[in-house]
Amino acid sequence: MKAAVVLFSVPILGAAMSASSPSRTRAPEVPVCLDRIAQASTSVTYLAQAEASKLLSRAAIQVEWTHGRSCQSGAAIHVHLTVQTPDNLLPGALAFCQPAIRDDIRILYDRVQSTVSPAHEPHLLAYVLVHEIVHILEGEARHSSTGIMKAEWTPEDYAAMASGKLTFTAEDVELVRNGMIDRQASLNAPAHKEHTEPPQSEPAY
Ligand SMILES: [Zn+2]
Repeated sequence: MKAAVVLFSVPILGAAMSASSPSRTRAPEVPVCLDRIAQASTSVTYLAQAEASKLLSRAAIQVEWTHGRSCQSGAAIHVHLTVQTPDNLLPGALAFCQPAIRDDIRILYDRVQSTVSPAHEPHLLAYVLVHEIVHILEGEARHSSTGIMKAEWTPEDYAAMASGKLTFTAEDVELVRNGMIDRQASLNAPAHKEHTEPPQSEPAY
């Protein structure tokens, strides 16, 4: 996912997050391990995790934020926050992952910080987390023409985030549901990603 432009000031974590969430059969919780780094305060990551959980629940995805030994589970998605991103690393991207190859997400936290004001960091971090987690769960690097899974967010999208109106398309919800079924089958298979070839494709962002 790329960020095209730097933004504006808008209230964060608004009440609009309470939009209806699907009440279908609950899928298993997806364990997600989020790195701690000194540059990301606990309050920022806590708020971002809470907001990301709400957003993901709109697509019937339940995440369990975990750490320590639970991160060793083959089902866990690992989120690495990094800083000092080289300028030539995926210019414009805020994060990237390689769905179908590994369950790791790298968030270029210094770029998140430089894209919005400090007050809005948890909000943007939440959307970046959600975008990348959905890539991993869908198992592919596809993007939608609108919404959370758009390849490149515009200033209008950032404004929609702030008011809680940037959401999933119906297709996103369908694809992630199918992806989670495939993922569960893969996790249950004996050779889960043990013999995967080295990355051959461009990362998704
Ligand atoms: Zn993306």
